[in-house]
Amino acid sequence: MNVGVLGAGQLGRMLALAGYPLGINVTCYDPGEDCCAAQVARHTRAPWDDRAALERFAKSVDVVTWEFENVPVATVEYVSMHAPVYPSINALAIGQDRLLEKRLFQRIGAGVHPYQPCGTPQEFDEALAAIGLPCIAKTRRFGYDGKGQCVMRTPEDVPAARAALGNHPCIIEQLVPFVAEVSAIAAADRAGTVVHYPVTQNTHTRGILHRSLAPAPCATPAIEAAAREVIAAAIHELRYVGVLAVEFFVTSAGELLVNEMAPRVHNSGHWTMDGAITGQFENHLRAVTGLPLGLTECRGGLPSVMFNIVGSVVDHHTLLQIPGLHLHDYGKAPRPGRKVAHATLHPVVSEWESLARHFDVR
Ligand code: AMP
Repeated sequence: MNVGVLGAGQLGRMLALAGYPLGINVTCYDPGEDCCAAQVARHTRAPWDDRAALERFAKSVDVVTWEFENVPVATVEYVSMHAPVYPSINALAIGQDRLLEKRLFQRIGAGVHPYQPCGTPQEFDEALAAIGLPCIAKTRRFGYDGKGQCVMRTPEDVPAARAALGNHPCIIEQLVPFVAEVSAIAAADRAGTVVHYPVTQNTHTRGILHRSLAPAPCATPAIEAAAREVIAAAIHELRYVGVLAVEFFVTSAGELLVNEMAPRVHNSGHWTMDGAITGQFENHLRAVTGLPLGLTECRGGLPSVMFNIVGSVVDHHTLLQIPGLHLHDYGKAPRPGRKVAHATLHPVVSEWESLARHFDVR
């Protein structure tokens, strides 16, 4: 079986690695040089609008998916004329636009905190007046890892935010005084069967995911059930096939508010590679190739903690002295703010919090 993956970053790399034991060969398509997936998979290097290259790529594989959510929708539409594509293109288009995401989750009845779209300095001021301080302005498109965002807590923060984002299509949303951030990750097959991973609790540093604990310590049975209900409804609405992630804020009242979704395998699901019976990368490949989905429970019923390694050289020697640590080095050169590796402790060791110093975000 040959799977084409649009994008060739670390998610493509981990999809390719998950494919090997199943006899699935991955070919990535990405215009970039030095893509880390190219170290382990075939790589077609061509622009997103190169129709001849896209057609050759699509015809060389049995099915196409993506690992990068900003692949142009027109690219995926063109590819879909030459190969089956999963998840649905609609899911990709919605996942690229924060406003469309908010509307999707409102439509399916999920909790969404107050927001207002804007696109001019005047609309920016109107949205700010409607939402009030403290709030956060976010570009509708191309924001990730805290990029394209300005937090406004006091009136003094407003001019800089307006100067940065006032002329861009944005949403201004209430700053949520959350007690925790969690994500739900589920996989859906072509027949509509959905399997859920345990809800994961995430901690961010400067907008970048620092660590994920699974199962989420804050997840009461009610929170777990509510998160599953939302992601299952989104899967149904989008006729989704593959792995989907939905990120939530948990309020002090135990309410879940949707922050965003990712129509792909997700960083907060990396723990599943070592800590769940079937990892998210394998389940995504199983889903898009029409194979049965694998079990999603924690291995041995035991929890995991995953740390991202951001911006620094991966110190294999020090890290591998930690018992129970599984290291995944993406083969990328370090750069400030760049995710270069992750490490999962499974099962979690009692001193895991003191180990967090090895994983400072740089
Ligand atoms: P995002 O790119 O939307 O995932 O935002 C990155 C991080 O910024 C989130 O994981 C939160 O830690 C924080 N953040 C984003 N939006 C809000 C909000 N409305 N209220 C509070 N914190 C937020």
